Amino acid sequence: MARVIGERTTSKHRRRSGRTLETIYPFSKVEVSRIRRRILRWGRANYREYPWRAERDPWLSFLAELLLQRTRASQVEAVFALIKAIADRGGVPPDTSEELQSFVGVGMYTTAAWLSLHAGQRAVIIDANVARWLSRMTRMPYNRDPRHVQWVKELSERLTPRVAFREYNYAVLDFTIGVCTPRNPRCKVCPLCSDCRYSTEEGGGRKAVSLVRTPGGFRIASTRC
Ligand code: SF4
Repeated sequence: MARVIGERTTSKHRRRSGRTLETIYPFSKVEVSRIRRRILRWGRANYREYPWRAERDPWLSFLAELLLQRTRASQVEAVFALIKAIADRGGVPPDTSEELQSFVGVGMYTTAAWLSLHAGQRAVIIDANVARWLSRMTRMPYNRDPRHVQWVKELSERLTPRVAFREYNYAVLDFTIGVCTPRNPRCKVCPLCSDCRYSTEEGGGRKAVSLVRTPGGFRIASTRC
């Protein structure tokens, strides 16, 4: 008998509960065959033409399924087209930002990450985490407003080294998810706290205060980082 993936009713379970598949889903053979036929007919009229569905290359098919585990199909479509285009180039992605960004789904972040982390070219990586970090450091506003994006670009450009850009970019990516976190940044262990206006002023300074219990009550252990 064919194994039904996802079917949890074991024979032991059925004996114990006295329920069979037919009592749980009391469809007659005719009904089953009608439902099946209608589903298939609907499918033939409505299948989405995602490129991986016609793919015969096992590696690409497998990759698509991996992506689909975590991502909506509409997002996978662009990435899959890109992966296929790169596979057609012998598996080597382009090494200019113009070429990279000509692919649907490749934005500034992916371009900069690829060029600086893998292709040996200096590029400035900016994502939401980097922008949040710089916004805290400077107390400058940041949102998707292009004026705000502009100052983040300019500051990132200034900060990114000419030579050690790869190491710097990796450090920034890790730092912004490990120390300068979206909520409750870890200012007290942050190596940048003395340069950071969030930490040394207003809200940031208050967040860095820690109280230590003493015999007489509490004392402020640190007002800054
Ligand atoms: S001091 Fe705090 S807010 Fe400033 S960069 Fe470090 S973790 Fe972020």
